Amino acid sequence: MTTVAAALADARARGVSSLDAQLLLARLLATTRTRLIAQDERTLAPSEATQWSEWLERRLAGEPLAYLLGEKEFHGLVLEVDRGVLVPRPETELLVDWACESVAALRSNRTGAANIDPVRAVDLGTGSGAIALALKRANPACDVIATDASAAALAVARRNAERLGLAIELVEASWWQGLEGRRFDIAVANPPYIAAGDPHLDALRHEPALALTPGGDGLGALRAIVAGAGSALVPGGWLLLEHGFDQAAAVRELLASAGFTQVETRRDLAGLERATGGRRPPG
Ligand code: GLN
Repeated sequence: MTTVAAALADARARGVSSLDAQLLLARLLATTRTRLIAQDERTLAPSEATQWSEWLERRLAGEPLAYLLGEKEFHGLVLEVDRGVLVPRPETELLVDWACESVAALRSNRTGAANIDPVRAVDLGTGSGAIALALKRANPACDVIATDASAAALAVARRNAERLGLAIELVEASWWQGLEGRRFDIAVANPPYIAAGDPHLDALRHEPALALTPGGDGLGALRAIVAGAGSALVPGGWLLLEHGFDQAAAVRELLASAGFTQVETRRDLAGLERATGGRRPPG
C-alpha cells in the first residue's frame, strides 16, 4: 500500500525534484499541491500507483513535465500541450509583450477612419497557439491569425482557442506559403532556430524536431520569414522574431539587408539576446 508520503519519498529517491513530484501527484489525485501535502497518509489505489510509476519513468527519461501534466502556463493562460507541439517557454512572453507594444503604437499613429480597421497580426508557426492566444487575450480588438505547417499542432491550437474562448483564425501554412494575398500589420514568430547537431537538441528530444531545428546553421526558418515579410507586411508594419542567444547579430543583419528600419534586439529575463524586430519603412 503506497501512501502519498511514500510516493513522494520514492520520487525524490529516484531523482525527480520534489516540486515536479508534488505537481504530478496532485494531478494524479485530482487535488492541489497544498492539499496534497496535508494528505500524507492518503493511500494510492493500485491504478494510481501504476500510473505514478509510469509518470516517474517518463519524467526520469527527460520528458517535459508539461507533457505529463498535459498543460503549461504561458503569459497568464493555461494551455493544453502534447507531444505534437513545443512546450511554451517563459522567454517567449517577451515576444508577446513586444507585439502588444507594437499594437498600441500602431493604434496611436492611426487617426480617424483608419482607426476603425482592426490591427491584423499573424503568429507564424504557432504550435500550441501560445503567442497568438496571449496576443488576442491582451488585444481583443486585434484580428489574430495563427499558422502552422503541422496539422497536429493546429489541432492543439484550435482546442486551446475554443477552451479559452479566444477567436483567432487558424491557417495551415509553411511560413508565408499559404498566406498569399494577405497583408498584416504585425508578424511574430518563434521559429525553429537550433542548428543541426547542436548538443542542446538531445535534451529536447521529446519535443517535435520540426519546432526546434530547421537543420543547417539554424537560421533557415528565420531567413525564409524575413524574405517573405517585405511583401506580407503593410508599410510601417512590424516583424518580431525570437532566436537563439547567439543569433541576434545575424538576425539584425537579415532584417537590415531586407530594408527593415528601427531594428532592435531585446534581452530575456536571463539577460540573453532573445528577440529581434524591425519595421517595414512607412510608405
Ligand atoms: N527556446 C527553445 C530552446 O532552446 C528552442 C525553441 C525554438 O527553437 N524556437 O529550448
